Amino acid sequence: MYEFAVTPAVTQLRRPGVIITEVTSGSVGEELELCPADRIVKVNGRTVRDYLDFRFQTAGETELTFQVKKPDGQTVEIEFDRDEDEDLGLMFEQIIPRQCANECLFCFCKGNPEDARPSLFVRDEDIRLSFLYGNYTTLSSITEDEMKRIIEQRLSPQYVSVHATDLKTRAYLLGVDESRADISDKLERLLAADIELHAQVVLCPEINDGAILEKTLRDLAAHYPKVVSTAVVPVALTRYNTDERLTRVTPEFCRRTIRQVEKLQKEFRKTLGVTFAFLGDEIYIKAGAEIPSRRHYGNYPQIEDGVGMVRSFTNAFERLVRTGNGSDRVPANVRTHTSAMLPTNSKSSAAASKNTVAIAPGSDRLHGTLLTGEMFAPILREQIDRYNAQTGSRLTVMAVPNTYFGGDVSVAGLLTGQDLVAMKDKIVGDFVTIPTVTIKSDEPIFLDGMTYDDLKRQFSVPVYDVDTDGLIEMLSR
Ligand code: SF4
Repeated sequence: MYEFAVTPAVTQLRRPGVIITEVTSGSVGEELELCPADRIVKVNGRTVRDYLDFRFQTAGETELTFQVKKPDGQTVEIEFDRDEDEDLGLMFEQIIPRQCANECLFCFCKGNPEDARPSLFVRDEDIRLSFLYGNYTTLSSITEDEMKRIIEQRLSPQYVSVHATDLKTRAYLLGVDESRADISDKLERLLAADIELHAQVVLCPEINDGAILEKTLRDLAAHYPKVVSTAVVPVALTRYNTDERLTRVTPEFCRRTIRQVEKLQKEFRKTLGVTFAFLGDEIYIKAGAEIPSRRHYGNYPQIEDGVGMVRSFTNAFERLVRTGNGSDRVPANVRTHTSAMLPTNSKSSAAASKNTVAIAPGSDRLHGTLLTGEMFAPILREQIDRYNAQTGSRLTVMAVPNTYFGGDVSVAGLLTGQDLVAMKDKIVGDFVTIPTVTIKSDEPIFLDGMTYDDLKRQFSVPVYDVDTDGLIEMLSR
């Protein structure tokens, strides 16, 4: 039924080498007459598979020989010297992700409408993207080559979907046999090689909660500090997830989970000195419970997994209301590796649509509509009401129902173009903002395939995309 449901866990077949997409003017790369579409096949005689290999093989080298395939088929050898760590001024193609070989009960692919665009059915699971962008992998189909690569190239930290350390439960959740689900040897090997791991548990009521969850958190905490943190996030089911083995997350389930995990958190703070096991913001919001304090989250090790985002935002907003400037935020441990910005070949939609005109920072009185997901809307509304009262602005927060995926999907990140457009007649004021996270990071389109330009054309006022930092910056005076 699903396009990639039985895709074998192999790296996509492709020609060796890494393709250059941009050469900075005046750079060493330009001096060497390297051009976009050139493929660097070898560095100092060693084969290059992708951007990470290129970076690894050039790091710290001052004498370099590139074997380059030109678009016309010609192969050239380029020998040159450079100062240590001198930037070559090259940008590269994106890494093509490897596919997983699991059949997870809760896989997001099973929650898509059948006519969703094909890329939504891609089950990527790639240790390179885990290192670069913090994507989770299950390690259940990792090859020996990949294991060696993590260790040799120090691709640390890695983000691992553990879900349960009880083997039967893990195998059941992943839809694979126990021998494949068992990653205990692999984890030990990575930890012994000093590779740091961040773990994730997608919490499924009646499957990996209760005693199984407690065992999982204790087993992982036993490896602290090499296992740095664990995020526990609730399973989100769309209206298309009809698997009867899955139970929806209820407010009562969330309250029970908070009570259970709070006890463990206290224990970990005492024994390890850190909270270690963090519950996703959604669990607190669904439970109607207070979001923990900043100290609870430390340096926000799992903020991009929706853990601590609300606390980080509300604290920044408090500062904004108090001082007029919220930008001095607690530096979060943003998990995207610094090198992640390098192998990109397209500008982000956010960058392409910079909010520069109608909502310039410093404007005291703003009149517009902020669209966000149903989960975050009440939190944002509370803060914006205070901001309006203080500045005389007339900002309206509107919760956008997710009609595309339905079910209990209420996060901003899964809103589609058509969900946002459905709000167009309700907009008040001179502009509208949408969450940046609704737009694909490397292409200006939404999850349903609508382009950003198409969406903009359907609104009668300018549309800007902002993330929470961008919003704080916009409102800072
Ligand atoms: S949830 Fe992730 S690991 Fe599981 S089947 Fe889907 S893509 Fe693969």
